[in-house]
Amino acid sequence: MSENQQQVWVFIEQREGKPADVSFELLSKGRKLAESLHGELKAVLIGHDLQALAAETFRYGATEVLLADHPELKHYNTLPYSRLVSELVDQHQPRIVLFGGTFIGRDLAPRVASHTRSGLTADCTDLQISDVTYLRKDYSQLLLQIRPAFGGNIIATIICPDAPVQMATVREGVMEKIPLAQPVAGRITPVPYTPDAADQLVRIIEQHHEESKVNLKAAPIIVSGGYGMGNFQNFQILYELAHVIGGEVAGTRAAVDAGFIDHVRQVGQTGVTVRPKLYIACGISGAIQHRAGMSDSNKIIAINDDPDAPIFGVCHYGIVGDVMDVIPKLIDAYKHK
Ligand code: FAD
Repeated sequence: MSENQQQVWVFIEQREGKPADVSFELLSKGRKLAESLHGELKAVLIGHDLQALAAETFRYGATEVLLADHPELKHYNTLPYSRLVSELVDQHQPRIVLFGGTFIGRDLAPRVASHTRSGLTADCTDLQISDVTYLRKDYSQLLLQIRPAFGGNIIATIICPDAPVQMATVREGVMEKIPLAQPVAGRITPVPYTPDAADQLVRIIEQHHEESKVNLKAAPIIVSGGYGMGNFQNFQILYELAHVIGGEVAGTRAAVDAGFIDHVRQVGQTGVTVRPKLYIACGISGAIQHRAGMSDSNKIIAINDDPDAPIFGVCHYGIVGDVMDVIPKLIDAYKHK
């Protein structure tokens, strides 16, 4: 195996020069993977005016930053970014390329994977290097791409031994950000960029950033909904309940994934940790990853139609029933209090 093929690359995501946390989480994990492979950790950075950010990756162990810096690249744009990363991968053939499981990462990674005919494991929650020689003698030091499957009911370990490059997107917040005590003496390698007519098919005219007004951490009352709410329409009833009792609305990861609620309102291991005075869990099973973010609430009320749902093990008051029967009654009762 050539030297390049022991390289672990991390795509560094940034907006207006502000890095995404997941990029540092991936560098921290990438450093361990590179150590296991006796290889090198490299960062791929695309944008404009990013010297300071490039240097910050050295604090996380990157020994080289491949930096494409151009005013036309200031904002993320699918076509030029995917072209650049694909060309770099073609040229250097790294062993592993990692992206955050963000809007940008989920847009970019499949295009690069398709270009390089590598395949992609999306939404990983862990990555390890290990021998899988019990499957085949030559399956040594493979990247194990670990992710929940079948709605989180199993944890799947995926290997792509025949892929030219092993690519994965990784969930935000599941890996630890571990800076080094001393940054490594890395180098910045400029990557030339010449705007191409095809890059102009999508032009970014203006960008608006809206700061989230949701502050779940400060909310004294949280009405939280899960997949058991059934659909987006049903979920809206939680806003009515929250309104009458002066609370905020939150949700589980399953509710977020189903599109019932925005991810900024997700409570749990990979969401926000809350400790309100009152947490009303509606149609939530009580998976450990959800409990991690809410079990310290002062009082917990759970509504679930399954009397054996684990949420009943952590709540102070439990109502066994259909959310769409119980919640309208609660709203009515509070309105007439
Ligand atoms: P389900 O588990 O599907 O539960 C739905 C519940 O609704 C069931 O108990 C059912 O009995 C009940 N129900 C159905 N219909 C009705 C009805 N009509 N009336 C009343 N009750 C009804 N999850 C999070 O929430 N937050 C996280 O931050 C998070 N991070 C994760 C990180 C990792 C690494 C992993 C692997 C998973 C993570 N998860 C997280 C996912 C977690 O494991 C669960 O899959 C998720 O919490 C389940 O959400 P849920 O309770 O809404 O859905």
